[in-house]
Amino acid sequence: AGVSFFELADDSAFSLLYTSNLSKDRIVAYQKRPWRISEAIFAPLSKGNSVQIPHLQTKKYTKFRERLLYNTVASWYAIPILIKNKILGIMVLAGRKPEAVRQDDLQFLYTIAGHVAVTLENISLVNILEKQTQALRKANLQLIEANRVKSRFLATVSHELRTPMNSIIGYSEILQDELDGPLTAEQKDSVERILRSGRNLLALINDVLDYSKVEAGQITIRSIQFTLSEALDAALEIILPLAKQKNLPITSDTSDPLLTVYADPDRTRQILLNILANAIKFTESGSIHIKIEAKENQALVSIADTGIGISEKDLPHLFEEFHQVDSRMNRKFGGTGLGLAISKRLLILMNGKVEVESKVGEGSTFTIMLPRSKNGE
Ligand code: ADP
Repeated sequence: AGVSFFELADDSAFSLLYTSNLSKDRIVAYQKRPWRISEAIFAPLSKGNSVQIPHLQTKKYTKFRERLLYNTVASWYAIPILIKNKILGIMVLAGRKPEAVRQDDLQFLYTIAGHVAVTLENISLVNILEKQTQALRKANLQLIEANRVKSRFLATVSHELRTPMNSIIGYSEILQDELDGPLTAEQKDSVERILRSGRNLLALINDVLDYSKVEAGQITIRSIQFTLSEALDAALEIILPLAKQKNLPITSDTSDPLLTVYADPDRTRQILLNILANAIKFTESGSIHIKIEAKENQALVSIADTGIGISEKDLPHLFEEFHQVDSRMNRKFGGTGLGLAISKRLLILMNGKVEVESKVGEGSTFTIMLPRSKNGE
């Protein structure tokens, strides 16, 4: 006459999932006083067996009939819904006639219960996954916030460090220029050392400040049209003395010297400067070759060196913050390991990107790409 499905909640009470025959007020009545698996009548379930009552209207079941919601029921069956011997719920069949279920029918009912079990299991897995996803999402938000706090802290600290650093450099320059009176050779040497260290430190501080500003989303990027080769020339002017010191010729090949891009010219110069400085830093002999070219709606600048190169293992991490291929070697080369991380992030903000190809012992080629049209890729 009717079939209902119940789910076992918290291993104790059966909660109604579906019913074909119970009216609303009976459902409400049931919810007030649900069946518990601990009730004696459900004992066979614990062994994976069904509860079979073909003659419910006998005296033996007077008490249980009160617990049922449909007291005209004449026969009553509860088939366990099992997964790996764990009971997830029951399927209840209520008949109007006192009758025994045939063995093969019972088999069929078990099959149905098996299917229901899989469905229930899937639902509960999905619920668990959903809960885990929510927890992860929350943890992720907390991490993002913590990261933002860290970046803001770094930005403040490095900003505050810049002022005294600039005055150390400024006063050292006054001393060096002997504006406050002549210096002995030893004093000159010391002032030079102070100045060199001061400038290195300032460069480091500026890197940290830049990086944390980008991370904290506190950086504003302009998007204006400018000539790429001009930005490159500005960077070259700063870097050329370094290349001269190491006897490294810099050659360039610009098919279109008037090629323009839409980006931030100062940031573009900063990125070029960083890549050029690396090329010189990591090259002992050979040369550096620069190429500017247009490719569809992008402008490309590639900077190729004949330096130490980067191994395949290190390539994927090159643009991660504070990543330096070899810390021992870097003591020799200096640097923060932030330059490329900053460059990559700045390029993303300018709708551009950076790519690298390299072979150990042969050299590296860094290519930056910038959009040629406004709002373009
Ligand atoms: P820094 O130069 O301050 O260490 P970067 O982010 O600019 O930081 O570079 C990260 C690392 O990538 C460098 O320490 C170096 O190991 C490697 N690298 C960058 N450019 C080159 C290059 N042209 N040739 C070889 N290695 C490079």
